[in-house]
Amino acid sequence: MSLANDILDNITGYSKAMYSTWFYYKSARLLFDAGEGVASSLENFIFGAERIFISHGHHDHIGGLPGIIRARSSARGDKQKPLTIYYPEDDALVQVLRDYVDKVSGRLEYELTWSAAKPGDEIELRGGDRRSFVRAFATPHSRRATSIGYKLMEHRRRLKPEYEGTDKDEIAQMVREHGREAVTDEYDHSLLVYGGDSMPLPLDEVRGCEVLMHDSTFLAEEERGNETHAAMEDVMRLAAEADVKMLLLIHISSRYAKGQTVKAARKLAEKYGMAQRTALILYRNIFLLSQRGANNTGAEK
Ligand SMILES: [Zn+2]
Ligand SMILES: [Zn+2]
Repeated sequence: MSLANDILDNITGYSKAMYSTWFYYKSARLLFDAGEGVASSLENFIFGAERIFISHGHHDHIGGLPGIIRARSSARGDKQKPLTIYYPEDDALVQVLRDYVDKVSGRLEYELTWSAAKPGDEIELRGGDRRSFVRAFATPHSRRATSIGYKLMEHRRRLKPEYEGTDKDEIAQMVREHGREAVTDEYDHSLLVYGGDSMPLPLDEVRGCEVLMHDSTFLAEEERGNETHAAMEDVMRLAAEADVKMLLLIHISSRYAKGQTVKAARKLAEKYGMAQRTALILYRNIFLLSQRGANNTGAEK
């Protein structure tokens, strides 16, 4: 199984524009956004999440926070496990919710940390050789506050291009004599990019990533009123140009029936050569475009 598919396999969540969006990435114990219903859907798995990354303070992305915060202190599970919530530092709406939570949650069994984030911040997840971290970046969405996307990155080494095709034993010999720095370069690889709500994300932030989770509120550009959400074609074009391994379309408007959404996505994916590497989030289900089957193309809403 490819790395992109493996990542996709470890994502559970829900997304419907205007109502609720949240995604739990099990492998790294991260929750991206926390729309309503997240605690009741995840139930005990809510104890798995160690960090929550909030993209912005619109209700459909933060409405589930009070439930998570409370459930972590009273449901069955490790009630002492600390939880950190990262959020855009200048977002007044998150602040309002935080004040509310502080007033109503009473004493919590665990340590809850609110950590203000800004574009460029890096949050360490794991040190050492396979260092991994989350990098925050600015996204084009709300005009009132900075909205933030998050990239899960892994620090890696790869063979210097001049040694490609060189015999394995010869490489091993060079490593023994001169150290691995002599034959390898360091680089940061993007495993998962979560954009929250946004117009098309900057190309440089998404280039070459394994999985891109991108707002695709509208099926067609002309249905968009103002410049706050992406349309499907914008996203397909971006993903193709950025050579992402897997595109996951999220935040699709409920004005469209499932059949209509899938049909539009197939057409655009064909046009941009993305048919084998696009998936849609339809409420709580991940639907791969490459999958064919009667129950996947029905008109069920
Ligand atoms: Zn939203
Ligand atoms: Zn929004």
